[in-house]
Amino acid sequence: MSEAVIRQFGYTDVLGWSYSRYSTFQSCKRQYYYEKYAKYDVAGDLMQIRKLAQLTTVPLEIGNISHKILRTLLKRLQRTSAEIDPGRFFDYAYREAYSIFRSKLFDEIYYGVRDEIDFENEIYEPVRAGLDNFLRSERLQWLFEEALVTKDDWVIEPDGFGEFRIEGLKAYCKVDFIFPIGDELHILDWKTGKEDYRKHSTQLRGYAYWANFHLEKEYAQIQTTIAHLLPDYKENSQRVNEYDIEDFSNVVKGQTQEMYSLCAEPELNIPLPKEEFRMTPHENFCKTCKFRELCDRM
Ligand code: SF4
Repeated sequence: MSEAVIRQFGYTDVLGWSYSRYSTFQSCKRQYYYEKYAKYDVAGDLMQIRKLAQLTTVPLEIGNISHKILRTLLKRLQRTSAEIDPGRFFDYAYREAYSIFRSKLFDEIYYGVRDEIDFENEIYEPVRAGLDNFLRSERLQWLFEEALVTKDDWVIEPDGFGEFRIEGLKAYCKVDFIFPIGDELHILDWKTGKEDYRKHSTQLRGYAYWANFHLEKEYAQIQTTIAHLLPDYKENSQRVNEYDIEDFSNVVKGQTQEMYSLCAEPELNIPLPKEEFRMTPHENFCKTCKFRELCDRM
């Protein structure tokens, strides 16, 4: 198994399902329009929409930075099995976290909710705690003892967006870390936010489907795991079966059809007019939406 065997697809315009795409669609159709179809908003200010789309939040950046540093850590483990020096590792983590933090524009700063984000306490401290939890976890110990022998076959955040096909439909599912042990394939997904069984269960089914599709592994041999880094290191594992996959397939089909319903031409992913993408009636949701200045819902 290696990244070389992951199937590649030529570019097509057709709308592709992903968990996050449908989540946005479900939350607010107008937000979905701004996220996915801004270039069709001829009366709007494309530069401004794109700027707002880049706004981030503290929880998002804690997750983003943690993922980036764990990716580097795993790549380093692939190169050398030498013990991790915590001093050097956290020194690197701090510098990397600060560099990413400095490059981002935070929603609350842009909208004047407050003057600054406290990097040390709000960003770095939770990132450090999550990484420390992982360094002390039995999982890392186990990786050293059991998984290093197959390190050349590890897949760490494969390139691209994780495209696959399901029942002829285009879909995406981005996995964090896949590694084989014996005949089994393990898939780990890092989380820094709250546990959410329903959401994570759908994602794990997607990862298993992705691994079966690309790596041709039987479902019975795939172990999928959500690894929570905070507040303590905790794992939720799931082994999916054919029924789970049938259910996942139906979810993707149904949600794709719903999203197609706002396309004038689904094959080209051309949207209906902006007015068809209704603003959510739940104004509470707008309070933290990055596009709120465009909707006059400040
Ligand atoms: S401000 Fe409200 S209505 Fe406008 S895009 Fe955001 S969530 Fe939707």
